[in-house]
Amino acid sequence: MRIGIPRALSFYNYYPFWHGFFTNLGFEVVLSGKTTKSIVSAGSALVVTETCLPVKIYVGHVLDLLQNKKVDAIYTPSIQSIDYKIYNCSKIRGLPDLIRNVIKQDFLLIEPTLDKSDKDKTFYDYLEESVKDLGVTDKEAIKRASKVGWKAQNNFNMMIHSGVSFEKALRYAIEGKVVILKEEEEYPINVAVIAHGYNLHDDHSSMKILSKLNKLGVKTYTADRLTQEEMKEGFRNLETDIYWANEYEMTGAAGYYMKDDHIDGVITVTAFGCGPDSIMIERMTRFSKKFGKPLLNLTIDEHTGEAGFITRLEAFTDMLFRKKRLNLTQSFDKEFKSKDNKQEKKTNKYKIAINI
Ligand code: SF4
Repeated sequence: MRIGIPRALSFYNYYPFWHGFFTNLGFEVVLSGKTTKSIVSAGSALVVTETCLPVKIYVGHVLDLLQNKKVDAIYTPSIQSIDYKIYNCSKIRGLPDLIRNVIKQDFLLIEPTLDKSDKDKTFYDYLEESVKDLGVTDKEAIKRASKVGWKAQNNFNMMIHSGVSFEKALRYAIEGKVVILKEEEEYPINVAVIAHGYNLHDDHSSMKILSKLNKLGVKTYTADRLTQEEMKEGFRNLETDIYWANEYEMTGAAGYYMKDDHIDGVITVTAFGCGPDSIMIERMTRFSKKFGKPLLNLTIDEHTGEAGFITRLEAFTDMLFRKKRLNLTQSFDKEFKSKDNKQEKKTNKYKIAINI
């Protein structure tokens, strides 16, 4: 049987687990294609305009699986909460209902509920619900498959923490490989890019922001690089508590990087019309002023043009370069005044600043 998984939303968080789990139980896992303009248009045509871009994209991917990939079932879990009283937004929680209501076609929709706030339900209940309609009821087999899934997921997390790119980490995890980066290239400017995985790692949505920044001489840091403890520290830095499930990768990561001296600036990428993000961005904006960390907020929807996006990135990085140059020359001035005045040493140090 071919299980279709839409390349959207929680795919960006849990795909290695799902792939390992379903494959071990003997199913073929089929992914929808990469996001394209036609996938976005097809999804947008079926939902109300106010719906956020990631959900429109999700609907487009379900259509892609049904129309082009000949799958036997679509896997769309309803992920209510990922920890006790830490909830997903209503659109993610009600995703299976949305899909059933907007796609008027006869197909098998697998829609288990994961709700860590429900003390009567365990993770295994969720897994059993995931395969019940596919005819699998052997609890021991489900536990074994879950172990395979966790192994792939942990390997993926380990690789991405070390700085391996999302695409590569995903590919290696599926192939059962582990590759850890020991050394990373240094760049003159370091920027934290704060966004949900589904906005950041979908090349169509993010317009390849990470590689665009690299080309501008900027090294990027994302929430994927942080441990949960570091993101909790980020919440403390921004004097708030976690409520939304995907707030770790937003508020948690932003709070951590804003207090990191190594980071020169922060860029956020959020979907137009996202309720939770608008609240989080407001807090980040306030604290960026408090910590003196330059912040650029970018909002995306299906009409966002690449040219405007690039212009804003260039203007922001330009400002970061100027700021860094100025800070460096000022600190050298201070150093030379207080210590020695050797012209040669002084010139060398200024050269470093000019290169930046
Ligand atoms: S958190 Fe925001 S962007 Fe993500 S699905 Fe919900 S409304 Fe959309």
